[in-house]
Amino acid sequence: MAGLAGALALRENGANVTLVERAPEFGEVGAGLQMAPNASRVLKRWGLLEKALEIGVQPKHLVFRDAVSGEELTRQTLNGEFTDRYGAPYVVIHRSDLHRVLLEGCEAAGVTLVNDVMVESVETVNGRGVAHTAAGVDYEADVVIGADGLKSTLRPLVANDEPVSSAYVAYRGTVPITEDTPRLTLRTSLSTSARTATWSSTRCARASC
Ligand SMILES: Cc1cc2nc3c(=O)[nH]c(=O)nc-3n(C[C@H](O)[C@H](O)[C@H](O)COP(=O)(O)OP(=O)(O)OC[C@H]3O[C@@H](n4cnc5c(N)ncnc54)[C@H](O)[C@@H]3O)c2cc1C
Repeated sequence: MAGLAGALALRENGANVTLVERAPEFGEVGAGLQMAPNASRVLKRWGLLEKALEIGVQPKHLVFRDAVSGEELTRQTLNGEFTDRYGAPYVVIHRSDLHRVLLEGCEAAGVTLVNDVMVESVETVNGRGVAHTAAGVDYEADVVIGADGLKSTLRPLVANDEPVSSAYVAYRGTVPITEDTPRLTLRTSLSTSARTATWSSTRCARASC
């Protein structure tokens, strides 16, 4: 995700960009992703917001409830004034859908996309960045950016640290919806077209529909 977004940003500024990925194809797995206006505003600038809105959802409210009593603690309305104030909407979208939007944006912008390339190390040679790959092919550029995720291979080259566990655990699950699912009940319990965050002391549950 960061690689595609970074590639688009660099193309926007006139750079020739080659994005290499170790997987045999560009893709993403996972669940839903919330995009606040600071993210959707950037998609808007790249001309990709319309596409994201076609496949994403704009919740009407963000609702916080007490997990024990169900009492509504606070509610943020997300359309109208909210969108005007922050210059872009709040969007919930499946991770692989957002990934596809960015990938298509990169293709349209002329980013060179290369799969099956495992970068093993990077070094500076005569003021230029050189990425050495497992296949023995080198990529040379003015700048090499490592957008290789949480377990980055490249980060140890510039920082002597490791991911820090926050000791929070997030469980995710889905509720199957069939033709027989009583829609009204589901909607009522999740508060129509709202993302619901439920709090109980140190625990939090999120639901969206
Ligand atoms: C449970 C959970 C919920 C989340 N919810 C949200 C949310 O709602 N909203 C939000 O904004 N964020 C959310 N996040 C955070 C977000 O998912 C991550 O910050 C984001 O996916 C990180 O993207 P990335 O591109 O940095 O890394 P990655 O998605 O890990 O991408 C790294 C890429 O680099 C490739 N790669 C790795 N090493 C090499 C190598 N040596 N050579 C070549 N390629 C390589 C990998 O194959 C991969 O494609 C959530 C995270 C979690 C765990």
